[in-house]
This record gives sequence, C-alpha cells and structure tokens, in this order.
Amino acid sequence: MHPFSYTRASDTRQALNAGRAGGRYIAGGTTLVDLMRETVEHPETLVDISALPLREITVTERGGLRIGALVSMAETAADRKVRSTYPVVSEALELSASAQLRNMATIGGNIMQRTRCTYFRDVTAACNKREPGSGCAARDGVNRTHAILGTSESCVATHPSDAAVAFAALEATVHLLGPAGERSIPFADFLLRPGDTPHREQALRQGEFITAVELPALPRPLRSGYLKVRDRQSYEFALTSAAVALHLRNGVIREAKVAAGGVGTVPWKLPAVEQHLIGERPSAALWTEAAARAADGARPLRHNRFKIELLKRTVERQLRIVGGGA
Ligand code: SF4
Repeated sequence: MHPFSYTRASDTRQALNAGRAGGRYIAGGTTLVDLMRETVEHPETLVDISALPLREITVTERGGLRIGALVSMAETAADRKVRSTYPVVSEALELSASAQLRNMATIGGNIMQRTRCTYFRDVTAACNKREPGSGCAARDGVNRTHAILGTSESCVATHPSDAAVAFAALEATVHLLGPAGERSIPFADFLLRPGDTPHREQALRQGEFITAVELPALPRPLRSGYLKVRDRQSYEFALTSAAVALHLRNGVIREAKVAAGGVGTVPWKLPAVEQHLIGERPSAALWTEAAARAADGARPLRHNRFKIELLKRTVERQLRIVGGGA
C-alpha cells in the first residue's frame, strides 16, 4: 500500500476544505481500502466523513424518502419505512455483499463502488478505467461477467451495485454538497457510461460528496421487488438482476418502473419494458412480451451472449412475482 495521510472531518466545513484541497472522501471504506491494498488506488489524503450528520432516513415533504448517505446498507434494508414503501430497495440491499459488509458499507459508498472487473483489480493488466489509454484486457479476455449494454470500445465493465439498480428503477435523486454548495441530480445522470473516459464514473465535481439519495413519492399501493441471478447464492455479484415496481388500479397497470443489473455499464433502466406494461392487465403473456424488450440494443462479448436470454427470463420472472396475474 502506498503511504497516505488521514484526516477525520468533524463537520461539513472541514470536509469541504479537505476535499477542495484534493482529499479523497472515505466513509465505510469497504471498497476503497481494498483497492488501496491492491495498489489499484493510491490517494495521497483520505478525508473521513463518517462523523458527518448524514445518518437519517426521513419522509420528504412530497411523501418520498430521503436516505442519508452515511446510513449503512443494513440499517437501510431494515428500516421500517423503506421495507413498507420500497421493498425493492430492502431486497436489493439484503442480496448484496455479506452481513459484515452491509453493516460497514454506506448507501453513498454503495453507489460509488467501483467495478469488480478482475482486470481492473489486476495492476499488471491493461485497463482504461485504472490507467487511461492502456487498453482493455477484458474485451479479448475472459468476459463472461461483463456488460452487454452501454459498453464502449474503451470499457465493458458492469456496475456492481444492487441498490443502484433499485434506485435507477425508482428514478431516485442524488443530493450532493460541494465547494459551490448543494445540488441535486437525477440518479440516471449520476453514474456515467464509459464512452472514451471510463475512468470518470460519476458526475461529481471536485470536492463534492453525496449527502443523500431521495426516493420519489409514487402512487400507492406500489408492489415492488428485486430478483438477483448469480453463480452462487450468497456473497456474489449479479449475472443478471431485475428491479420492478408496479402500481395497479382497477386491475390495470398505471405505473411501471423496471431496471436491470449485471448487464450494463451502469444500472440499466428499461423504458421499452415499462411502456409495454402501462395500460395493460397482468397476464403471463404480458410479462413475456414486455420482457422480450429487456435486451434491446445488447452487444454481447465472446463469453457473455448467454446474458441476453438470462436477462429476459430474469425480468419476466420478476414481473410475474411482483405483478402476479399468471
Ligand atoms: Fe478495465 Fe473496463 Fe476493460 Fe475491465 S472492462 S479491463 S475495467 S477498461
């Protein structure tokens, strides 16, 4: 591990000053410390923001939920308001990582976590994300777990977060604080597709950090849930996943929120699937027809063509679980 200095911010002013000077924010540390040990990351200064007052889950004036960036994954998953209103978020979190990690890792850190592409973590391999311009060993390497949507010539790595898939489906908002003040951006704009700059992963400006993730108020009753398909049943990342939320009135689907994980360079919203559902009545045929659109635009690699069919089946199954009617 490279030498680094460490400072613990006791308030936001201290944190912002240290961030403005180039410090790297750390909270739970469950991703960053690993990457520092592996010499993938070597920040000169760590700014610990874990003492900041960002540990509450509150109901917003609009009736949504605001989850403080420092609330742990475990606390968020267990929160009564989250469980009753957005079970898709609780389920996504409970299917993530391990119990130990969920107790340490924060919501802000969870969506900031970096890819699990093995070449990214192998400092002897070419990786445009770790070292811009060096190439991408995954394109012609072992790419079974890599992305089929949102890829570029520069990078084909998936985003690993499950919670981020639920946030993408629900169209959450990310609240940020930086030297220029507060701002909020749609979740869909927060995580960046790789394009020619895969080393830029979030729409953060110098010195900014996440203060909260806000879930919008959605029509009630809202049925929702998360399905994760993986090589083993615990402590494993998704091959495919589906976050689904449906609002039905008088037996007709009025709102549909659907996103997929394990397949995109960012959590992958599925508007074509959503549009196919709205205005329809639940049925086995409807789930199949809608899910058939899930892999539109996919560009598989040598080893991950199977994800196209697996994704469609994952989405279909989760539509059936959440929507019933079959
Ligand atoms: Fe690096 Fe992305 Fe290629 Fe993986 S897929 S080796 S993260 S550039």
